[in-house]
Parts: sequence; structure tokens; C-alpha cells
Amino acid sequence: MNKIIRRTLIKTGGLAALTVVVPVPLTTFVKRNKMEESKHVEVIIIGGSYAGLSAAMALGRSMRTTLIIDGGDPCNKQTPNSHNFITQDGETPAAIAKKAKDQVLHYPTVTFLQDIAVHGYKKQDGFEIVTQSGVRVTAKKLIFATGIKDKLPEIKGFSECWGISVIHCPYCHGYEYRGKRTAIMANGERAFHVASLVNNLTEHLTVLTAGKADFDAEQRSKFQRHHIGIIEMPVAEIQHENGMVQNVVFSDGKQLGFNAVYAAVSFEQHSTIPEELGCELTEQGYLKTDAFYKTTVPGIYACGDNTSMMRSVAGAVASGNMAGAMVNMELTREVF
Ligand SMILES: Cc1cc2nc3c(=O)[nH]c(=O)nc-3n(C[C@H](O)[C@H](O)[C@H](O)COP(=O)(O)OP(=O)(O)OC[C@H]3O[C@@H](n4cnc5c(N)ncnc54)[C@H](O)[C@@H]3O)c2cc1C
Repeated sequence: MNKIIRRTLIKTGGLAALTVVVPVPLTTFVKRNKMEESKHVEVIIIGGSYAGLSAAMALGRSMRTTLIIDGGDPCNKQTPNSHNFITQDGETPAAIAKKAKDQVLHYPTVTFLQDIAVHGYKKQDGFEIVTQSGVRVTAKKLIFATGIKDKLPEIKGFSECWGISVIHCPYCHGYEYRGKRTAIMANGERAFHVASLVNNLTEHLTVLTAGKADFDAEQRSKFQRHHIGIIEMPVAEIQHENGMVQNVVFSDGKQLGFNAVYAAVSFEQHSTIPEELGCELTEQGYLKTDAFYKTTVPGIYACGDNTSMMRSVAGAVASGNMAGAMVNMELTREVF
């Protein structure tokens, strides 16, 4: 048995209950050779951060045997404090996740495996997931709560500041930088949109377009009216102290002092298994789902950042909650 599950189960007192409720004997977990391990649950959730844990709670409370497989690499891991989620405002991302995990693993039909899902297969009556450490698990339904991977630009200092003072979202971190010297690294519609929101938080705003500015006359006149500067010179470096931006250095060597930088970065899906199983992506690269988080492949659901550009802990939790309930309903309808 994976050490982490065992520790978690012992800590939460779930061990005794698991031997009764999960439809496989506990000895299945303790085989010497990991490659021999195999078990069946009703639902596998891949990704055990906010979205996945939220789905697991709905399923645990419905007494569904559920395995969460999580690689422990959430996208917000470098941010010191998470904001804009009621009851948890200002908590560390890890503290929110820990509390959620403790609460979810209170439900005896839910188990947690710290591992990475590497393959997924369609089976006659569901799916099989294989993990990096060789665990094979079958399930009737899958939920992908795998998030997205940000592709940070190779600008010196950028990754060290990511989530600290180089930020992606005014709702998550904008208030903390209110009134501060702020840059927006973006161009066109995206830059205009972010500038319009951030303008309410600070009067010291400059847009860094890294090339010819792409704004129409009306957008330019609004920038002028609000004293928002535009700099077209590409950024060469972000100078910082422990992740706190001090200066932005441009490719011509000039530099300007800033406290915060908003940046829109590209992304890729954290897991390619949904695509390998046939799930369609949207044009923007998100997993395509309906309003109930059903993907385009029957029996597979997806929730959280991998499905939506509206990126927040609250959003991930809400979508996970819905996905868990919908999977439970589907399982119920199949036998009731
Ligand atoms: C820098 C930064 C700061 C942010 N700050 C805030 C904030 O202050 N407030 C706020 O509301 N939102 C914030 N967000 C947004 C918020 O963090 C995300 O919306 C939220 O984490 C999405 O949750 P999720 O569960 O969908 O994905 P994630 O939290 O990214 O978790 C995905 C999980 O899936 C796992 N996983 C992926 N693939 C596999 C696999 N193959 N096998 C096993 N496990 C896998 C990963 O290891 C990870 O644990 C921030 C985002 C970033 C990037």
C-alpha cells in the first residue's frame, strides 16, 4: 500500500471502515510488488487539489468508493497567500488544501494515493488508470481535476516572482498591491481588459506590450484619460528581492521601478490522459464539458482549471462539487 494512503488512513481513523466498505480486501494494497497491485472503485478522481477534493467530498458523502490520485503539484503552490475565497481569505494554499483533504478523508469510502496517473484505458465497464509507480485501478467513472500547467516566459526573474508579485489575476492579488506602481505585461484586448480592472486599484499603471502596441483609437484615448502609460520595448529582466519585484529592465537596458506586474501566460493541460481517452478540447485548450462537467466521452467528467479560464479556488471548488454530484447521479441512474 502506498505509504501516504496508509498514513492518512491511520491518522483519520478510516482504516477499519475501509476494510468493510471498499469492495476489495485491504490485503490488495499490501502486495510486495507494486506492479501486482490492482483494485476497483466506483470513481477515480485524478488530481487531488481544490477541484478534485471538492468532487471527492460529494462522492464520499454519497458513500461512493472513490480513489483520489494526486501528484501534489497545484498551480498556486508558490503564492504565499490565497485570496477571494470566503472563509479562507489570506490562508496559505497548502493550509486550504490540507484542511480540505482532512475533511474529505474523514469519509471512509474515499482513499488518497500520492502518485501520478500516467495512462488511461477504456474497459468494457469503465476505465483503467495506471500510475507512475505501477498501481493499476479500474473504475466505472473518471473525474479529471488535473488543472493546467502555466508556461512561464524565459525572462530572468519572472518565475521567481510568479504568484508573489508577478500575478495573473486582480481578484486574487490585486487588493494587496492597491496604490502601488504596477505594470501589465500584455497587449491588445487582453491588456485593455486587465488595465480597465486594475485602474480601479491603482493610479500608477503602465502597459508593457513587448512590441508594437495593438490598441484602437478609443482604447488609446481611455489609456490617456486615466494616465496609463504604454511601453513597447520588450522586457529583458525582472529584478526582485525574494520574489518581490523591484525593477523591470527592458531590452535596451533602461529600467523602471515597479511593485507588481500582471502577466498573462500561456498554458497546457497538466495531464494528456483525457485527450488520449478521446476527450475534446475547446479552441482555447480547455477540456470541453457541458454545464454539468461531462466531457465529450461518456463516463468521463472534468472540473477546475482544466475546463475554464475563470480561474479561482472558489470556482474550482464549485465545479468539483457539481461534478461529484453529477457522477453520483449517473451511477445512481444506472442501477436504480
Ligand atoms: C500563481 C497563482 C496564484 C493564484 N492565487 C489565487 C488566489 O489567491 N485565489 C484564488 O481563488 N485563486 C488563485 N489562483 C487560481 C487557483 O489556484 C486555481 O484556480 C486552482 O488551484 C485550481 O484548482 P484545480 O484543483 O483545478 O487545479 P490545481 O490546484 O492546479 O491542482 C491540480 C492537481 O492535479 C494534480 N495532477 C495533475 N495531473 C495529474 C496526474 N496525471 N496524476 C495525478 N495528479 C495530477 C496536480 O499535481 C495538482 O495537485 C492562483 C493561481 C496561480 C497560478
